[in-house]
Amino acid sequence: MTEKASELDKSRLRDIEYNYKTIEENIADAAVKAGKAREDIVFLAATKTVEPAYINHAISCGLKYIGENRVQELLAKYESYDLNNAELHFIGHLQSNKIRQIVGKVELIQSVDSIKLAKEIARQSELKNTTTDILVEVNIGGEESKSGVAPEALEELLYEISNLNGVHVKGLMTIPPICDKKLDICKYFSRMNKLFIDIKGKNMDNVNMEFLSMGMSADYREAILEGANMVRVGSALFGPRIYV
Ligand SMILES: *Cc1c(COP(=O)(O)O)cnc(C)c1O
Repeated sequence: MTEKASELDKSRLRDIEYNYKTIEENIADAAVKAGKAREDIVFLAATKTVEPAYINHAISCGLKYIGENRVQELLAKYESYDLNNAELHFIGHLQSNKIRQIVGKVELIQSVDSIKLAKEIARQSELKNTTTDILVEVNIGGEESKSGVAPEALEELLYEISNLNGVHVKGLMTIPPICDKKLDICKYFSRMNKLFIDIKGKNMDNVNMEFLSMGMSADYREAILEGANMVRVGSALFGPRIYV
């Protein structure tokens, strides 16, 4: 974590810069096709396994949002991120007993899928005299192995969360099932967008449907075309992940 610039892989730095520009162009292009402007879409980099020096290089290229998946890793890297120029989110599966460690450190927790988690985030936020913004994660494919609230249970969960002080719902997030065909993934994205619009129309107190977070390296363009205004891109920016 304390590498000097000279010890960094120069070709990887160049790749990141090139990838950043390419993704930016693709997002701008998809935004226009979706009837939006580039500024309407949040480009968040999923930074799991990536060393802070490379993350900060992407930030120096113009990246403004980063997201980590694991509390342990986030805490280990926390002091090294250039958070003067980027906003940190939590996007991974969350356990109640780890919430205390990230409240106050992250701007948005994207992966809340139960009243239990929401209550604990609210409790920890109130202890720190703050309010934490969250997205509710939806299991749009109804997969047993995946986290996220079932679409049928979403509204009820939002009503429960809306009564809590200390948390503020800002939208929805999803990780759809892995699909071989682009057409299949688009079906899930479109279903999510319908849900998003439907909930937005209900104008629930303390619930803002500002962000629809969906789309990753393989399908962020399709996601934007289907209504996403926040995409989470990892490997297309940083290259393949190396787990150690
Ligand atoms: C890793 C990750 C991503 C990005 O995945 P890529 O396919 O590398 O773009 C997006 N969202 C979440 C929640 C992730 O864990």
